[in-house]
Amino acid sequence: MSAATATTQQTLDAIKQQILRDDICPELAATATQLVFGDGNPNSEVVFIGEAPGKNEDLQGLPFVGAAGKFLNEMLAMIQLQRSDIYITNIVKYRPPENRDPLPAEKKAFLPYLQSQLAAIAPKLMVTLGRHATNCFLPDLQISKVHGQAKRITLRLNKHSNDSLSVVMLPLFHPAAALYNPAQRQTLIDDFAKIPIIIQKIKAHHEQGFRFE
Ligand code: URA
Repeated sequence: MSAATATTQQTLDAIKQQILRDDICPELAATATQLVFGDGNPNSEVVFIGEAPGKNEDLQGLPFVGAAGKFLNEMLAMIQLQRSDIYITNIVKYRPPENRDPLPAEKKAFLPYLQSQLAAIAPKLMVTLGRHATNCFLPDLQISKVHGQAKRITLRLNKHSNDSLSVVMLPLFHPAAALYNPAQRQTLIDDFAKIPIIIQKIKAHHEQGFRFE
């Protein structure tokens, strides 16, 4: 099937198969139950990007289905969105042993596939959850300083070409970190509440607000 006739879901399925064929991070693959590629609406204008699967995600093969995912679903409901309205994935697609932080080499190995996912979906808004996802795109940002501030960025999509995507990025605290930290939890809820306004601004091409302070 040519790329021109493939649906976004078919393109995503092909990227998932490519990760398996390319044998990405074999040490992680050996300890994980399965690849957790992504879930939700591939035609959504909003993509959420987390860090890496945890225990429940590893068992079910779906991102954000544990405690952090439940909290995320509650915040989505707060802004009248459901999981089926958005697409969600992680920068690293196998569970790291004992939920340790993903290693720089693991993040680097999965990045081209994340870029391909984003190229296929071409979201208008990319919500990065936590410092790992945020720093994957803008390495120098401090999540504690820029959370809740949307910024238009140009995403390089392929290291072998000049393909790029203009997208608004919104860095947020990670729901797993915020879950048990009352101050961060409220900040995350407040930042989350800005999402509908940011989507409206993007649709109205009203770009003045998109900068980090
Ligand atoms: N935390 C993440 O970053 N991703 C998941 O899928 C689950 C928890």
